[in-house]
Amino acid sequence: MKPKSLCLLIALASFCTIRPTVLAQAAAAPANPADTRPVVGPGYDNTPVIPGTEWRVHDNRRPHPPVADPDEMAKERLPTAPPEGAVILFDGTDLSGWLGKKNGPAMWEVQDGHMEAVKKSGSIRTEEAFGSCQLHVEWASPNPPKGNSQGRGNSGVFLANRYEVQILDSYNNKTYADGQCAALYGQKPPDYNVCRGPGEWQTYDIFFEAPVFKGRDVVKKAVMTVYHNSVLVHDKVELLGRSSHKKVGKYSPHGKGPIQLQDHGNPVRYRNIWIKLTD
Ligand code: MG
Repeated sequence: MKPKSLCLLIALASFCTIRPTVLAQAAAAPANPADTRPVVGPGYDNTPVIPGTEWRVHDNRRPHPPVADPDEMAKERLPTAPPEGAVILFDGTDLSGWLGKKNGPAMWEVQDGHMEAVKKSGSIRTEEAFGSCQLHVEWASPNPPKGNSQGRGNSGVFLANRYEVQILDSYNNKTYADGQCAALYGQKPPDYNVCRGPGEWQTYDIFFEAPVFKGRDVVKKAVMTVYHNSVLVHDKVELLGRSSHKKVGKYSPHGKGPIQLQDHGNPVRYRNIWIKLTD
């Protein structure tokens, strides 16, 4: 073999050996040994830092919001009946207008005026796509409770099929702050933990402003305002990008998208879901 070819071969061999290590380092940021802040619950210490904050994604040191009684905290009870002009997405009778795996029928169970997530049946989403909107959702976590941290009463409400308001049983159940009940998943914990107990019906009233794109670029980020059990827990919060696990979510251009309810393997129940378009 000519010396030049030999050099090329050696260079290629060392590239192939080094590359997986480099990629592994890029995928997980190393824990910071100088971080002496107390660990406050389950979570991670080697994920990327969330831009504009001092916290990593799912940071196990990020403080949890104060626990509060929604009946004492709420300034007023938001109405649960659909207002004039609202589209009823689920009235407790059937899953018409919802799709399951591979655009097939939604396979969640419907009984006694509610639907229930069925493990491994997949997340479900509306046939119709929506942009900016006001969304009302009622849900209940399983009773008796089962599992811990992210394994207890996990589901989620996704706006435009990608921005998740977390559903979790956060009643006496610690997890990472940006993944607890009513968190903007992986980005911001709610301002208060006003989670009701297992089996109790709870409400989300979500005001979503869809992002605006110019070509590949986001020129106006998505904005979320969320009331949990009529308590304001996110006030006009700009999203950093799509909801992501263990990484900082990015934006990619999209138009209107369906409302999605997550199957995370736990039998979370839903009832009385309606939406009012605001764009
Ligand atoms: Mg979830």
